[in-house]
Amino acid sequence: MNQDYIILMEKLKKINAYNMALVLFQWDNATAAPKRAIEHTAEAMGILSDAYYRALTGDDMSALLQRLNSASDLTPEQHAIVLKTAEMYEEIRLIPADEYAAYQTLLAKADGIWQNAKLNNDYASFAPVLKEIIAYAKKFAGYKAQARNYSGPLYDMALDGYEKGFTTEVLDEFFEKLKASIVPLVRLAVKNHALVDNCFNFRRYDIELQKKISRKLAAHIGFDFDRGVIAESAHPFTTSLHNKDVRITTAYLENNLESAMFSTIHEGGHALYEMHIDDAFTCTPAGTAMSMGIHESQSRLYENNIGRSRAFWEPLYPMLKETFPEQLRDVTLEHFVKGINQCVPGSIRTEADELTYCLHIMVRYEIEKMIFSQEIDVLDLPGVWNDKYEEYLGLRPQNDSEGILQDIHWAGGSFGYFPSYAIGTAIAAQIYDHLKKVMPLDQYLAEGTLTPVSDYLKEHLHRFGASKPTMQLISEMTGEPFNPDYYIQYLQEKYTKLYSA
Ligand code: ZN
Repeated sequence: MNQDYIILMEKLKKINAYNMALVLFQWDNATAAPKRAIEHTAEAMGILSDAYYRALTGDDMSALLQRLNSASDLTPEQHAIVLKTAEMYEEIRLIPADEYAAYQTLLAKADGIWQNAKLNNDYASFAPVLKEIIAYAKKFAGYKAQARNYSGPLYDMALDGYEKGFTTEVLDEFFEKLKASIVPLVRLAVKNHALVDNCFNFRRYDIELQKKISRKLAAHIGFDFDRGVIAESAHPFTTSLHNKDVRITTAYLENNLESAMFSTIHEGGHALYEMHIDDAFTCTPAGTAMSMGIHESQSRLYENNIGRSRAFWEPLYPMLKETFPEQLRDVTLEHFVKGINQCVPGSIRTEADELTYCLHIMVRYEIEKMIFSQEIDVLDLPGVWNDKYEEYLGLRPQNDSEGILQDIHWAGGSFGYFPSYAIGTAIAAQIYDHLKKVMPLDQYLAEGTLTPVSDYLKEHLHRFGASKPTMQLISEMTGEPFNPDYYIQYLQEKYTKLYSA
């Protein structure tokens, strides 16, 4: 084997060890750690981040990667690992070591400040730390623009961290297209709201029984409990240490049946992707999803396109009804499937229905664009937020907890992340259409056989991890480039049918 490659693998083992420790702390902070732990945990995370930074940007790394980049005796997998490591290296070395560690410590603290602010509806207590995070985010984006000699919008550099190729120019057009087709459908749904009932969803559902259902649903779509666990957290999420340790969380609400079920299917979709990545990439920079958009396409595909279809529930609904016989006694399968597809504009993104979801993303996209293009007083942001909700969704959030404080992303420094939810949703519709062409999808779902679906996704998408660019993955799998028209067509067909009197 190439000697340089052996040296690189030794370095990656160390880099990965620091990263795993950081991911575990993040997981622990969100699921099990007591509130007061954070002051010392934040410090430890700062030190680990610093060690991670130094291991990745060590003196000889640049020359090593350069030699490997032109080596002719690497396998395609090894070459992909070299490329991803070089990409990571280039990105991180733009940031000075002291700024990187200070930023990581700030983020670890910001999490707790945001949680308290949200709990107490106290945006003012979060504003100063948000201001600091924004300053860092803009500074880091500036470093990247400078290194690339990029003179376009600064926000493009933030977007680039999550989904390459989706600049503000591309996204403006994408969101305009979505807005033009979604807004009239939402109006139709609001006008004919009486056609769809989901009162059953808000009856009382025992949480222990909900947990059993969640595990069954995860297993049903192919979640491997030998490689993954399900825990609880306020906000459901997925994290992965490597393809044999993938963790998802769910939040259970006693008076909401759908919430935990669909978040388990959603996070389960993310988990399948991570679990199916080829062993050749395990514990390397290529051993993760290619981008956030493609990651989100897998969760959305399972949650919405598949998980809200009648065929999916045909074999499962009897089990659900058996578990909750009282609550669902007057609810037929037909009624249930209509109910889980109901569209009601609301103020909370994570509770949004499939139709209004992207409007929530548009609000965040436009605010982020504004933050990166001008000097903005963070104290003005709640007002901007509320105005945009009124414009796109026809409602004003009752308070900041249900408004600007609802999402964790900005507290985590994740500017540029939100658009990947909308991109992923559109990719999911394109893949769903493709699956229907290459296999009898509804028949499989109705039979309760989901293995051919996950096998196909593994073979054509998951196994590649981060070794192939998103656009290439989509083209090779579906036979055509990314095309949001599939998504628009899917929504139009589904919601016109559901809400036409
Ligand atoms: Zn997701």
